[in-house]
This record gives sequence, structure tokens and C-alpha cells, in this order.
Amino acid sequence: MIMTWWRNWRRRRILARPFPEEWEALLQRYVWHYPRLTDDERQKLRQLVQVFVNEKYWEGCKGLVVDDEMRVTIAGHACLLTLGFGGLILDDPQTVLIYPEQYVAEGKTHLPGGVVSETLGVRLGEAWQRGPVILSWSSIQRDVAHPHDGHNVVLHEFAHVLDMLNFHVDGTPPLKDSSEYRNWNDVMVAEYHRLIDDTQHGRATLLDDYGATSPAEFFAVATECFFEQALQLQNRHVRLYNLLRDFYRQDTAARMSG
Ligand SMILES: [Zn+2]
Repeated sequence: MIMTWWRNWRRRRILARPFPEEWEALLQRYVWHYPRLTDDERQKLRQLVQVFVNEKYWEGCKGLVVDDEMRVTIAGHACLLTLGFGGLILDDPQTVLIYPEQYVAEGKTHLPGGVVSETLGVRLGEAWQRGPVILSWSSIQRDVAHPHDGHNVVLHEFAHVLDMLNFHVDGTPPLKDSSEYRNWNDVMVAEYHRLIDDTQHGRATLLDDYGATSPAEFFAVATECFFEQALQLQNRHVRLYNLLRDFYRQDTAARMSG
């Protein structure tokens, strides 16, 4: 109770400050969707970004000095995911670790209990349940330079964070009711198996074949596609597109064709 009051009080103070002009320029420059949002959506995204930047613990690794360009670019994409939701739901994880380049991780690739890391050895990013999100700045820079190639490590990792909100890393984030779960399961299982089948038969796929690794990776990869290649997704996987449009409460295809 006290914690909630304290957090809300702190957030009100954060939001009472004007949004820095340099941050506005960074969102315009690095978040492809930002200038294409409605005025209300832009206002909401700015507020989400302000809180996100202020509340996370930002740590640079291997000597990287974290600056506003990094913080605002990461926050802009992470908060884009939750733009359609009612409140601030990316309260966890608290720490964002940023490596300058792709990094070689020590230890196991897959640990039980909610660690999702991306490739064996060299990694682009990873997300830990109730722990840090780990990102590489060079990957993010490449992603923002190519906003329609279906790859965005920030969207990918924070999709895992959404997935983890119900403590299961299974490709199903918390949903509203049983009919939503049924619909989610129907569409996701069918689309996941379609990707596995296409990949096994060497057919070209819109969705990155990395999504065939597991249902959790499928959701993260589908999220990247939804925000980067919405028109193609709508064209080739209309049920998946509609499911994600209803979940994220954003019509990214309309935004792209507008
Ligand atoms: Zn992943």
C-alpha cells in the first residue's frame, strides 16, 4: 500500500516535469512509429517513456557509458508495446543492462525458471524473469536503421517480459478471459506449427524461423513482425495479425498504410 502510494507520488512528480526537447527529437528519429501516432498516443508514449527512463536502473557493461540516446531509444520501443494498455505494466524488470556489442555470455544458455536468451554463445539480448533485460547497443542501432526488416531486439526482449508477467514463459501473456485464452491458443498453435512446417520444408517464411524454436520465441518474433512488417503480416497471416492487433490494441497495418 505504502509502496503503491510512494510509487504513484514519484510518478506524478516525474510527469510534472516537461518532456525534454532532446528526447522528443530522439523519439522522432529512432522510433519509426512515433511520428505516425495520433497526438493522444504520442502524449501517452511520452509519459510512458518519462516514467520508464526514470524508474529503470540503467547499467552499461564493458565500459559503455549509458546516455539519453540509449535510454530514450530503448524506452521508446519498450513502451510502444504497452501503448494500447491501460496502465504502466512494464514495472519489472528493474534493470536494463546494455553491452556495446553483441556479447558472449558465460554459463548456460537456458536456465530453468524464466530465462530467455537468444543464441548459444554470442547474444543479441536476453530477458530474465524478475531480473534484468540485457541488450546490445550495436544491435539496437542496426534495428532502428532498418525499421521494416522484422528485427528489433528491444521489441523482442520486452515481448518476453510481457509473456513473463504471468510467470510462465510460454508465449502466452496474461489475457482477459477464458475466451481470449481459447482464441489465443487456437491461433498461436496453428501459426507456430505452420512456421515449423514451412521451416522444415525449406519454404520461405515472413516470420523469422527463429520463432520455430519455441512458443515463447514465436510470440516474440511475431511481435517484431507485427510492428515492423504489419502489412505483410496482415496479408499472409491475417488471423495472427488480428490476434496481435486486438492484444496490443494498435492497428499497425493502418498506421503503415496511412
Ligand atoms: Zn527470444
